[in-house]
Amino acid sequence: MSENLEKVCSFCEFGNHLIAERRVPTQQETNEIVLPAMQAINDLRDELRNIFQNYRRIEYRFWRYLQQHNFHQRPWLAILPPGQTVGNGVTVGIIFEREGRGFVCGCMHPINNNMGLNAVPVGQNFNIDIGNYDTVFHNPRPFYIDNYDCDDIIDHLKISLDIAINHDNDGQRFLTYKDRADDILDCVRKAIKKVAKNADEEYLINRWIYARLQQDERGESKAVKKQLYEDKPLCFFCNKKFESMKGIHIHKKDGSKGYSKDNCVLCHKECHEKEHKRLNEKENDE
Ligand SMILES: [Zn+2]
Ligand SMILES: [Zn+2]
Repeated sequence: MSENLEKVCSFCEFGNHLIAERRVPTQQETNEIVLPAMQAINDLRDELRNIFQNYRRIEYRFWRYLQQHNFHQRPWLAILPPGQTVGNGVTVGIIFEREGRGFVCGCMHPINNNMGLNAVPVGQNFNIDIGNYDTVFHNPRPFYIDNYDCDDIIDHLKISLDIAINHDNDGQRFLTYKDRADDILDCVRKAIKKVAKNADEEYLINRWIYARLQQDERGESKAVKKQLYEDKPLCFFCNKKFESMKGIHIHKKDGSKGYSKDNCVLCHKECHEKEHKRLNEKENDE
């Protein structure tokens, strides 16, 4: 990867000289600098594809831009989540500086549409000039060709991809709530391992957290139960009045939604069981 990044930066630096000197490259310069840069940007695109294709089980497209005969330009590479384009979408990019000192990586939006992302102006924060692209990066990170680490680039691109695929693009979010919840679970597991002094503690902490989260859920349902009871102390299914608050069940009309007054009703234990039996039978019929 580094050899190819250096070739593209050399091409930019060389183009900068050509412009200053107002001349076109000789055949030898073309063979030595321009053609290898074309090859290098194609190779970089392929390297990105090898590294990131199927990252979090998503299929991306990989774009690159470098005009062979234009010596006044900023080449770039982009990783595109499904349905996203550089002109219309949230993507991840590498934009080279025209002067050839390095490049900026991060999660980007189109120049004329911020897609709800907050751009961090590159020129104000870092000593690198990417011209028109100055305000397209959400999390810009510059890399200078005389001092950088390829692993850092890959890490920053991963962070950027996570921003891109978590971002809600017109209702299109690529990670499901389960993917995001699994990320949290990973962190919790690691944290438990880190704080537990031995296997017994690991077991106890694990159980404690599990119980506490369940308690949170019960706390929510209890509050809704109280509100519903104060509104109307009747069983939703048989319409009979409750004798007391004790033993009353709460039923969620839509099981995939949380506890709220709109989504819940109160009922007798027997009526609740009957309702679930009915729902099960209905499901089996379908
Ligand atoms: Zn009832
Ligand atoms: Zn129920």
